[in-house]
Amino acid sequence: MRHSVLIVDDSGFNVRILEKQLCQYYDVISTTDPMEALRLAFEEKPSLILLDVVMPKMSGYELCKVLKDSKKTSNIPVVFVTSKGGVEDKVIGLQTGGDDYITKPYEVGELLARISVHIRLKEAQDQLKKLLEEKNQLIEQLENLSLHDGLTGIYNRRYLEEYLERAVEECRRYSIALSVIMMDIDHFKRVNDTHGHQMGDKVLEKFARRIKSNVRRADMLARYGGEEFTVVLKNTDTKGAAVLADKLRIAVQEKPFEVDGHSISLTVSFGVAGMQPGTDSDATQLLRDADIMLYKAKGAGRNRVEFETKSG
Ligand code: GH3
Ligand code: MG
Ligand code: MG
Repeated sequence: MRHSVLIVDDSGFNVRILEKQLCQYYDVISTTDPMEALRLAFEEKPSLILLDVVMPKMSGYELCKVLKDSKKTSNIPVVFVTSKGGVEDKVIGLQTGGDDYITKPYEVGELLARISVHIRLKEAQDQLKKLLEEKNQLIEQLENLSLHDGLTGIYNRRYLEEYLERAVEECRRYSIALSVIMMDIDHFKRVNDTHGHQMGDKVLEKFARRIKSNVRRADMLARYGGEEFTVVLKNTDTKGAAVLADKLRIAVQEKPFEVDGHSISLTVSFGVAGMQPGTDSDATQLLRDADIMLYKAKGAGRNRVEFETKSG
């Protein structure tokens, strides 16, 4: 791929000379108008800009500053080509963000060599930027994977525990109720025994989807493990959570899950525990309490909701 160089010089004569010197190696774009130069820099994204210093409408220094201040063009190397050869001029040129300063008369060989160095540096920089972006994307993907369950796509236990710890803190600080629903599919082993583990997996996926569609976005649903799922509800007391649990219980019971031409009926048992405003608990305790209630629901015949009635 050929690189492109934008030449900006108010003298058409100078532009033509530079064009001649570069056209064998680069795609050359040129203009004698600094405002047009800005447009070309933004739209064409040249690999490098050769910039005159003394121009009537806008000096090369000013133009360079605008280019370097804009996110879209700041990484394009700017090389001043000028007859202003004083040390102060060079210092100003480099201070305004110029990458190099070449005074006339120059040797064409040196001009080409310098252009080539700056383009190489820019390529390395672009490559580094791309790698960094890819790395950040990968980190984001990994973080996402580490917090979600691979089978159902909902949050996993690790995220649940982190979330619950934060939720407990928040609800304690603002005196808000917090509830936890633990659910466990009844006799799920029979599904595996009858239809095989793979179909069991598909049922779990569909189960998670159905539960998800029956909870609010603000409620946090996670796969606790195996055929156990958890919902965390902020600003909801235990009774309110038990009402939602019963709605979920009915949503599962009322319609079989259709998998590979088979109709599989399920029921679920629920345990609900909570932290009322003014009472104290922690994430581990809440999960344990909900689990005790779930165990009670299993013992009382399954397909039911049991909830803590203790009050703060
Ligand atoms: P209970 O009503 O007492 O909960 O009965 P159960 O059969 O559901 O409970 P048990 O704990 O005895 O068995 C859980 C079953 O869930 C057995 C296990 O193979 C199945 N299971 C757990 N995780 C998965 C999974 O990821 N995929 C499949 N297909 N099955 C799973
Ligand atoms: Mg279980
Ligand atoms: Mg079970």
